[in-house]
Amino acid sequence: MKYVSHLCCRECSLEYELKPLAACEECWAPLEVIYDYGRLRSSVKPQEIARRAPNMWRYRELLPLAGEPASGLDTGFTPFFRATRLARELGAREVYIKNDSVNHPTLSFKDRVVAVALNKAREFGFTTVGCSSTGNLANAVAAQAAAAGLSAFIFIPADLEREKIISTEVFGAKLVRVDGNYDQVNRLCSEIAMKYPWGIVNVNLRPYYAEGSKTVGYEVAEQLGWRLPQNIIIPMAGGALITKVHKAFEDLKKLGWVEPTPVRFYGAQATGCSPITTAAKQGSSEIVPQKPHTIAKSLAIGNPADGPYAVKAMLGTGGTGEDVSDEEIVAGIRMLAETEGVFTETAGGVTVAVARKLLRSHRLSPDESIVLVITGNGLKTLSAVSDSAHEPAAIRPKLENFEEQYIEQEAAQTTAV
Ligand SMILES: *Cc1c(COP(=O)(O)O)cnc(C)c1O
Ligand SMILES: [Zn+2]
Repeated sequence: MKYVSHLCCRECSLEYELKPLAACEECWAPLEVIYDYGRLRSSVKPQEIARRAPNMWRYRELLPLAGEPASGLDTGFTPFFRATRLARELGAREVYIKNDSVNHPTLSFKDRVVAVALNKAREFGFTTVGCSSTGNLANAVAAQAAAAGLSAFIFIPADLEREKIISTEVFGAKLVRVDGNYDQVNRLCSEIAMKYPWGIVNVNLRPYYAEGSKTVGYEVAEQLGWRLPQNIIIPMAGGALITKVHKAFEDLKKLGWVEPTPVRFYGAQATGCSPITTAAKQGSSEIVPQKPHTIAKSLAIGNPADGPYAVKAMLGTGGTGEDVSDEEIVAGIRMLAETEGVFTETAGGVTVAVARKLLRSHRLSPDESIVLVITGNGLKTLSAVSDSAHEPAAIRPKLENFEEQYIEQEAAQTTAV
């Protein structure tokens, strides 16, 4: 029995049947997937969810498939843990990490949205899929299309990190490097979606694709013991993730699976691409597009489609947006690695650095619970930290050389203090 009902325009409330559609045909606003919450409330219970396999499909009734998923079966249910050493470093009492840097199969939260999109593509009968991407989406579509036996066209800005290009190409996808920024790549992709009978995950499959992000929210609540955190910090590119985690928490309140306690939403961006945090700081949902220039390429969307809704999620819950410099991002990556043993990419560095900045400026309470959503893996953006990585001089393979270089220096340093 399925609980997904129809599509509804977020602005003019026009309704559509469940079909491939990028936006409202009347007003071009994003489309929202609507479920039958009444029926859901009476037939699905959290105790039953808890007994299911540890992947994102444990919430399948709240995802927009008509049938059972056939691919992406191991995606989701990533680690969630209390980060006591990071909390001490940040000067906060109760900090948790949601660690999507180890999501399956391509080590970012994008595996969730792609798992939903490609299953939906299969239900709609598409045999070719594609996407425009700032990197992680490219990896996820290429890998999951290979595993599902679908052809894939991946459109990326030509200046993407080499790690992300190689880890897309290896899956046999057709990689189209475009001499332009993400927003130009995305426009090209929209034109292609109109002309060819393909399922482009972030164009004509976008309403379904975006729903996959909700599972981050469901998992955080379940992993906290079916409770909501007091604060959550989420990195933003197009603004879909933060909007959908907000929707997920609202879903859980509607279903009565959690107490309806308030959650403040904080959105994080790099200063070099901060159209959403800039609007939030001005208390406006009017997004002024920017030309991105930052090492956080996975977040470098200058004209974010869900920007206004992201601002509403933040300001409507008493949260706010903040952005950080490239130096702060690298420091954030290192802080998380050194305190918790988690190596995240630039987007995770943004999240940690924004947490630090908000705490230092007393806009985030150090006595409340704070969840940091870590969305991608550090191995994909090695170049971001390689400049600041000091490679120690090699020693000769002799004990005395080791001691001279390391033990005696250390002893000298200790006595000097
Ligand atoms: C895409 C992405 C985000 C943000 O996603 P949006 O839904 O577009 O805001 C965050 N972190 C990483 C690593 C990403 O790849
Ligand atoms: Zn509309």
